[in-house]
Amino acid sequence: MKTDAKSKGTWIHRFAIQLFTLVLAVLVFWVLGFFVEDIQSIKGPDYTSIEKKYLDKQLVTKQSALEKQIADLTRQIENQTEKQRVVGDGSRNLQQTINQLLELQKIGLQKNVAFSGTEQANFTSSLNLFLDNQKKYQELSQAVSDMLERKQGLVRDKEQAEQEIEKQRQPARDEFNRLSNKHRLKLAFFQLAILVPILIVAATVMIKKRSSIYFPLFLAFGAATLVKVALVVHEYFPSKYFKYILIGGLLLVVAWLLVYFIRAIAFPKAQWLIKQYREAYERFLCPVCEYPIRIGPRRFLFWTRRTVNKMVVPTERGDQEEKYTCPSCGSGLFEECSSCHKIRHVMLPHCSHCGTEKEIK
Ligand SMILES: [Zn+2]
Ligand SMILES: [Zn+2]
Repeated sequence: MKTDAKSKGTWIHRFAIQLFTLVLAVLVFWVLGFFVEDIQSIKGPDYTSIEKKYLDKQLVTKQSALEKQIADLTRQIENQTEKQRVVGDGSRNLQQTINQLLELQKIGLQKNVAFSGTEQANFTSSLNLFLDNQKKYQELSQAVSDMLERKQGLVRDKEQAEQEIEKQRQPARDEFNRLSNKHRLKLAFFQLAILVPILIVAATVMIKKRSSIYFPLFLAFGAATLVKVALVVHEYFPSKYFKYILIGGLLLVVAWLLVYFIRAIAFPKAQWLIKQYREAYERFLCPVCEYPIRIGPRRFLFWTRRTVNKMVVPTERGDQEEKYTCPSCGSGLFEECSSCHKIRHVMLPHCSHCGTEKEIK
């Protein structure tokens, strides 16, 4: 009797195994992520210090001095403009007052009433004040326009300095890019130096233990590592290289699958073999060469895989079971059971009389 039938487990067990395989894969991926992050945190080249090497210090000081001057000047211009506005407001008020006084005087002249002494004095002082204000306004205008001119000159100087600095920055940027690329390659190398050996170990274990009951463990480990390696490679290598790495990987996998299936046919596993033998016995054909097994009532018939079901088999009572060897290829097909000494199938695992199991090779 067959006693060591492999238990598939309840659905909840199978589900738990799948779930924890996934969880394990995520955790492994996470741990690998820590390694990768630590390596990524290695400092790269510093742009500011590279720039310092290439820029003319005097030029930079000049530029910042110019910037400061321009800012000062802008503030002064704002102040003067504000003052100008206040003076202008004053002037407008005075002008209104003078206009009113002139209006009064005109009315007085029409009525033949002369300006009094105080009125005249008021008028004169207002006028003087107005003229003073106007003069001040003109002066402020002049100052502002002078300052604007100076500011324009400074802005021109600053732009010139900036252009020169920009020219000097170009080699600094080139060097920074070169160093950055070198640094990235170094990081990629370190990361792969850790990940690739892990991947090789994972792949080896997966292949060696593929029929082990602990296979899900190794599968989780291997899959997580493979994904991490693919991500790192994708991040650090330009897509023109990545496509070769990807296609190389795919080629390997497909070639491996091909070899696997070819070998599965050339060296079949026991259960596939038994399935194949069973189907042949059902059709009364030799499992090895498909020559008809001509025993009992079929002794004088001939058939093939296709015609076996269309045949009329003559009924013959009391047919004796006997040992049988394929006359075509010489494979033993029926033999005496070692346990009950009746006739049993050679290429099927159990005796049909006593159930004794034997190993099928
Ligand atoms: Zn045969
Ligand atoms: Zn038996």
